[in-house]
Amino acid sequence: MQYHLNGVRTGDPGLVDAAKVDEAESHVDVLIVGCGPAGLTLATQLSAFPDISVAIVDRKSGPLEYGQADGIACRSMEMFRAFGFAERVAKEAYQVNEVTFWRPSVGGAEIRRVERIRDVEDDVSEMPHVILSQARVHEFFLEAMARSARRLEPRYNRELIRLKRGCRDGDPVEAGLACLDRGDRSETVFARYVVGCDGARSTVRKCMGLELKGESAQQLWGVMDVLCTTDFPDIRFKCAIQSPDRGSLLIIPREGGYLVRLYIELDALREGERAADRGVTAEALIERARTIFSPYSLEIKEIAWWSAYEIGQRVCDRFDDRSDGRHPRIFIAGDACHTHSPKAGQGMNVSMADAFNLGWKLAAVLRGQAAADLLYTYSDERRAQAQELIEFDREMARLFSERSASAENANRFQRYFSKHQRYTAGVETRYEPSLITLGDSQQELALGLVVGMRFHSAPVVRAADGRLMELGDCLDADGRWRLIAFAPHGDSGTGAVWNLCSFLQSGGSGDPLCLAGQDEDPDSVIDFRAVFQLPHRKLKLDEMPELLLPRKGRYGLIDYEKVFCADHGSGPDIFEMRGIDRTRGALVIIRPDHFVAAVLAVGSTEKLTGFFVEVFGTQHDKRTAAAGYGTGHAGTRLP
Ligand code: FAD
Repeated sequence: MQYHLNGVRTGDPGLVDAAKVDEAESHVDVLIVGCGPAGLTLATQLSAFPDISVAIVDRKSGPLEYGQADGIACRSMEMFRAFGFAERVAKEAYQVNEVTFWRPSVGGAEIRRVERIRDVEDDVSEMPHVILSQARVHEFFLEAMARSARRLEPRYNRELIRLKRGCRDGDPVEAGLACLDRGDRSETVFARYVVGCDGARSTVRKCMGLELKGESAQQLWGVMDVLCTTDFPDIRFKCAIQSPDRGSLLIIPREGGYLVRLYIELDALREGERAADRGVTAEALIERARTIFSPYSLEIKEIAWWSAYEIGQRVCDRFDDRSDGRHPRIFIAGDACHTHSPKAGQGMNVSMADAFNLGWKLAAVLRGQAAADLLYTYSDERRAQAQELIEFDREMARLFSERSASAENANRFQRYFSKHQRYTAGVETRYEPSLITLGDSQQELALGLVVGMRFHSAPVVRAADGRLMELGDCLDADGRWRLIAFAPHGDSGTGAVWNLCSFLQSGGSGDPLCLAGQDEDPDSVIDFRAVFQLPHRKLKLDEMPELLLPRKGRYGLIDYEKVFCADHGSGPDIFEMRGIDRTRGALVIIRPDHFVAAVLAVGSTEKLTGFFVEVFGTQHDKRTAAAGYGTGHAGTRLP
């Protein structure tokens, strides 16, 4: 964590200086509807920018106190690290290490353990798969928002009731809110962008004229968080039980060592039927759980929370309100645009991933860094992911619920589960080539840093202080792009990396680092770093190009945290782990949401330039001109 850049400040370094805010509450850049995981992720991301005004509203009277989703995938933990609270989540949470499978014994009357597998294979992620209450996750987000420059807090008791987009492209969106704590009163908010994170029955979605489409057959689920005693031996493992003829059950041990969540599969609902129509009771859930556990005992001492809810596998046609020639102004994220069963533990994770994908894009457009075309990529990228998840979930749900006790059926479920562990860890997402994901990358230079997939971290040593750390620790949720040069063998900052730095420093035509404004630090838009193959004791920091020791802040202090060494003394290094070409090195462009946008040769300055000119469009041109450099360059298209 870096601080004291603009003068020594005592106290909590995580409490950012408050921005001066003089806008009226009724006019904001972004209105977020809903304080679930999607809304809070987006609000936390946007609150990092002092110059963006945000309102987040919820019809509830206060924060979620208990319940709902609980599984936090490795990829979500990587995102939490970027927000600065992954360590606290890890400390409080239950860590999922192994999964066990139980099914009927031969003859059918009893259940027995048939397999035990590791939950997360080696090197899927440096972050664990954990279980923690959604309400607690909300608290971490709320805290991060409250400590941001905007000191953002949700406005509760505000229910979105109408939404109207202006006639012209630039007009704000008008949102009508009922003030639930003030009788019949309502208020109007004008926003440049509105994001509906308002759950499966989204009002925003309805106002956009969209609907969730998919399976009409809905599955009813019971879920209970309980303190219990039992002689079932795997109560502290994540465990899938398929009983002979009494249905299926999933055990998810919870944080704190004693609490357990039981997902109990109930019946399929008829067309149009809701969970509430079935009159499910906690007693009925306990009874069903007992029969599935049989012959093991199950004595419930306390029910902390329970719910019965229906799930359909459904998705919207698009997640924005684009129309002929008009850029999107209204978006939906999370359950508002896709729903699926809890078996794969994806509800909260996918909702947060939607918002993380959208947040930096909105910020880039609002801050004038990128053209509004960037916003099309949100729906294009996330809709494809949602569709994939639904197909995965449908198959998983089918195998899990298969009533047949045949060994072959059960094995199929286990095999499917094992095969897709990486998927449920959230690390298999891969975006198609687009404006922000380069189709003709030189992937062969870094086979393990797959273009379109999230940057897969590995350990490195920071050259300036010899600290062993994850390279992924540098990827804060601050809206910045990352450009990481992996130096060819023997390069100690004087070869290809030096040439690259000379280009980036020359301010020549197309230099992407020109995007930083006159009064901004040179890395304020693109954060450039390098990883060398030499051990850190052999690397001469004082011979590094200036760009890797940039001067920043009001005193022009030197940032010493840009240079890393791969050699950490034991085990494979990042070059080996991520298949990086040792002879030629690689230049990796990473998006603000951690996805690899391109892999290039270290000397590919033309391609590098072309990529950033496409992304930043006229803004790049403007900044380059302001800095006194020529505008327009051969081989690049300015929108
Ligand atoms: P939500 O978490 O649904 O948040 C939407 C928010 O929008 C809510 O706070 C709501 O009050 C607010 N809102 C809605 N309409 C308006 C409006 N018009 N104006 C203002 N505010 C509005 N997933 C699992 O994986 N495991 C589980 O056990 C599980 N249990 C669940 C139990 C219940 C009762 C529910 C509802 C969901 C459960 N889920 C579970 C699903 C999981 O919680 C969701 O996938 C996840 O919360 C989606 O996040 P979201 O931010 O998209 O929406």
